[in-house]
Amino acid sequence: MRTPIELTGVFRAQGLKVTPQRQLLFRLLHQNETHPTAEGLFATASSHMPGISLRTVYQTLNDLVAMGELRALTFTSGGTRFDPNIGEHHHAQCVHCGDLRDVYVEPLHGVQVQGLDGFESHTTSIVFTGRCATCAATPVS
Ligand SMILES: [Zn+2]
Ligand SMILES: [Zn+2]
Repeated sequence: MRTPIELTGVFRAQGLKVTPQRQLLFRLLHQNETHPTAEGLFATASSHMPGISLRTVYQTLNDLVAMGELRALTFTSGGTRFDPNIGEHHHAQCVHCGDLRDVYVEPLHGVQVQGLDGFESHTTSIVFTGRCATCAATPVS
């Protein structure tokens, strides 16, 4: 995702309004590695700017995804998470606390894959599911 200042320019160039609420969201998302949900981002934004609407959060997230500045990630649990890291990477998700972190995998050339049968692959997404280091270190009560 580009910087808040660059995004302001991109939005304006597309004829989209850039309100203080939107600029706050740009700042909260920029280099954010927590992969927030829309609701989580709304809670954080509200603490900075009471009165911001969930609708504004959804609209801004949708616009950023449509512009290719933000990625929407869907997992089997935990709802849609938003990722400003649009470079190639993969994820490790903790099923215990929901922590989602970026992981990097060497290019997969040469990996033997069964069953693609001529399928033309554009992207590959690897999700490691389990317990994060913090949760793994905590004894299960
Ligand atoms: Zn965890
Ligand atoms: Zn990510």
